[in-house]
Amino acid sequence: MTTAAGLAPWLAPSLEALLRQRGHAWLLQGASGLGQYELGLALATAWLCERPTGQGACGQCASCHAVAVRTHADLCVLMPEVQMMELGWPLDEKTQSDLDDKKRKPSREIRVEAMRDAVGFAQRTNARGHGKVVLVYPAERMNAITANALLKTLEEPVGDIRFVLATEAAWQLLPTIRSRCIGFTLPWPSSDVAARWLAAEGVAAADATGLLRAAGGRPQDALRLAQNGASPKAWAALPKAMARGEVAALGGQAPPAAIETLQKLCHDLMATRAGAAPRFFEAADLPLAPPDSALARWSKSLANAAKTAEHPFNPGLMLEALVSEAQSALNSAAPRRP
Ligand SMILES: [Zn+2]
Repeated sequence: MTTAAGLAPWLAPSLEALLRQRGHAWLLQGASGLGQYELGLALATAWLCERPTGQGACGQCASCHAVAVRTHADLCVLMPEVQMMELGWPLDEKTQSDLDDKKRKPSREIRVEAMRDAVGFAQRTNARGHGKVVLVYPAERMNAITANALLKTLEEPVGDIRFVLATEAAWQLLPTIRSRCIGFTLPWPSSDVAARWLAAEGVAAADATGLLRAAGGRPQDALRLAQNGASPKAWAALPKAMARGEVAALGGQAPPAAIETLQKLCHDLMATRAGAAPRFFEAADLPLAPPDSALARWSKSLANAAKTAEHPFNPGLMLEALVSEAQSALNSAAPRRP
C-alpha cells in the first residue's frame, strides 16, 4: 500500500502538489501521526534526485542511494538528538562520543551547535549539482536562539538551497518563521485508507479500527500503538478500570504516554458532557461523565503533569498518583437523574 517512493498513500498527492510549487522554504504542518517527517524527507529526496519523476524521487540514482544510507552531502537534517537516533541519522563524532561516554543525555531540543553547522552548510556550495536541502523536524523544537539563526538564513538564502520545516505544532513557531515559508497542511486519510495502510504494515485487520480510534484517526500513532503491544480490547476496558483505580490497566506505559491516554479519556468525557460524540473511546466504554468542574480540574492537572513527565522523580509513583486522581475525578459523577 505504499507508493514507489515508500510514502503512505494519503501523502502521495501531497508530494506531487508540493513538487509543482516554486519557492525556497516550506512549512509542512498538521496533526501528529500524519507523516510530516516522511513527507519532508520524500520532498527533499525528490529535489536532490538525478532523475526525478513528477511523482517524486526515482529511488535508483546515486543521490537517492546517498539519502537512503544517510550520507548525502547536500542534505542537512536538523533535529534534536533524540529524533536523530530514533530515525537512524548519524550524529557527528563529538556528539556521539559525548553520548557514548554518558557526559550528557541526547537533547530533545534542536541544539545551537547543530544550528551553527546547518548555517555553515547553507553557505557552502553544493557537492552533487542538484542544489541543497535543509530538513528541520520537529521544527517546534527550536529555541529562540536557534529559531533566530534559522530565520536569518531563511531571509537571505545563498545559492540553490531549499528548506523544509516539518511540525506537529506550528503555533509554537515564531510568526516570522511561519511567514517566510510556504505553508502546507497535511491531509487526513479516510479511515478505509488508514486501515488498509495499517494492514500492509502488518497490523491485524481485526485490530486496525480499534487502534485507529485509540489514536484519534492518526495512522502513524495507531501503528506505534500496535508496535507497543496495545490491544483494542484493553483500550476499551481502560476507562472503567481507571474509575476503579487500577494502575495495571495502563499496561506499563511510561508517564508521558499514560498522561496522553488520560487526556484522551478526559477529552471524551468533556465531549459527551457537551453532547458531542467521543473521539478516542466508544461511548459504551465510558463511565458516567463527572461534572464539568471536576473534568476541568482534572484536565488542568494533567496538563501540568505533562510538563514534568519527561523527567519524573519516580515513574511508578507518578503513575499511581495519576490513576488515583483519575479515579477520584471519575467518581465525582453527579447523581443520575431519574
Ligand atoms: Zn533518484
